[in-house]
Amino acid sequence: MYPAVFLDRDGVLIENREDYVREWSQVLIYPKTYLSLLRIQTAGYKIVVVTNQSAVGRGVISIQTAEEINDKLIKTIQENGARVDRAYMCPHRPDEGCDCRKPKPGMILQAARELDLDPSRSWMIGDAWSDLLAGQSAGARGLIMVRTGRGLDQTREPKPESLQGYSLVDDLEKAVDTLLANQGGKS
Ligand SMILES: [Mg+2]
Ligand SMILES: [Zn+2]
Repeated sequence: MYPAVFLDRDGVLIENREDYVREWSQVLIYPKTYLSLLRIQTAGYKIVVVTNQSAVGRGVISIQTAEEINDKLIKTIQENGARVDRAYMCPHRPDEGCDCRKPKPGMILQAARELDLDPSRSWMIGDAWSDLLAGQSAGARGLIMVRTGRGLDQTREPKPESLQGYSLVDDLEKAVDTLLANQGGKS
């Protein structure tokens, strides 16, 4: 089994949009994304994107467009020297009660089955409490909150009671610094 780093998409790899990322032209990849992913990859982790895209369930964008955006993002990341092993998307609205929408761990558990990953040696990086809760529920060894995207706003709201230890950092680059510095014993 492989260790992995699970990453949220909007607000972590690309800029978050309040009104959803609805087309490729709205995808603004953070400049530090490529090198940060490369550092994760070089350290021996699989890289898995887990993204809630309720815009699909709300009828704002089609599932095809949402998948196309993820495919193009992965391709662009590859063209810039890094890699994403797979992207998982929850297309449902919150009221649909699915098992994949974060804070539920469905996407992480599915990835673990399909890609032979070991959550207990894996990390979750997100810009929302729901990202961290999903990682915690899946049994991740480390949770990192970034201040980019929704992160700053989220950390001004009370932390969910059920959320245990996590690290708070400025951005993905700092998240990777934290991860690589804490690979040994459980932090
Ligand atoms: Mg996000
Ligand atoms: Zn779902």
